[in-house]
Amino acid sequence: MFKTNKFSRNTFRHPYTKDSFILYKNVARQYKDKEILSYVNSIIPSKIKELITISKLNSNNVQILKSLLDWFKQDYMKWMDSSSSNNVSKNIKCQNCNKPLHFSIIKGISWRIRMNEIYECLNCNSKIIFPRYAEIKKIANSRIGRCSEWSILFGAILNSLYVETRIVQDYLDHCWNEALIDGKWIHVDSTLAYPVSLNHPHYYEKNWSKRYKYILAFSYNSVDDVTSSYTIEWQNVLERRQQDNKKENIMESFKNFYKEI
Ligand SMILES: [Zn+2]
Repeated sequence: MFKTNKFSRNTFRHPYTKDSFILYKNVARQYKDKEILSYVNSIIPSKIKELITISKLNSNNVQILKSLLDWFKQDYMKWMDSSSSNNVSKNIKCQNCNKPLHFSIIKGISWRIRMNEIYECLNCNSKIIFPRYAEIKKIANSRIGRCSEWSILFGAILNSLYVETRIVQDYLDHCWNEALIDGKWIHVDSTLAYPVSLNHPHYYEKNWSKRYKYILAFSYNSVDDVTSSYTIEWQNVLERRQQDNKKENIMESFKNFYKEI
């Protein structure tokens, strides 16, 4: 259970939820689990593995990362559409009636299944259930998701190839990975098409008009503020932060809580 008395009540106001910290801690734990990593490693095509045995994965060897990213996006994973308005899905249709489906969410009871998305046809009562898994093997088997599932699994794939990887969350609406290559944390986003999927940290700010406050990176041992790597408007980030919390050192509270869980 959480010891809520150790940090201020405001620290974890939306969007920096405790649930997200518990989720990413458990993802980081799975990244250290040999059995899970070996399972994930077995889904990588042998063609790509051969490339890796020939030469080590480092920054001079972008070709291997490109092959992995291409395979993952184009062949392995499917994207689950999320567009809906007034609880009606826009692009997901009933297989029988071809009508838009009614959309609702049932909250999960642990980090393992964060929630279930229910898509229901009000005409014929058929249902599609999309469980939002955080267990890596379940994502590897279901092969479908959005940036959460993609980043959780792709991070595991890199970790299974001995490339240390962590999850990065911008607390706006996106998450991705960072891979430790030649001693530096490099931006990796398996949901984007190469080359912007690799080492294009300013992509979101430029193209998606992101207005960051805190971008956090979750490793096994720590949560780190990595916002400065993703912005060329640092002064604006600082101003946004000041509007939010005048007194408390929010990163310190985050770090303390992350250690405790
Ligand atoms: Zn129907």
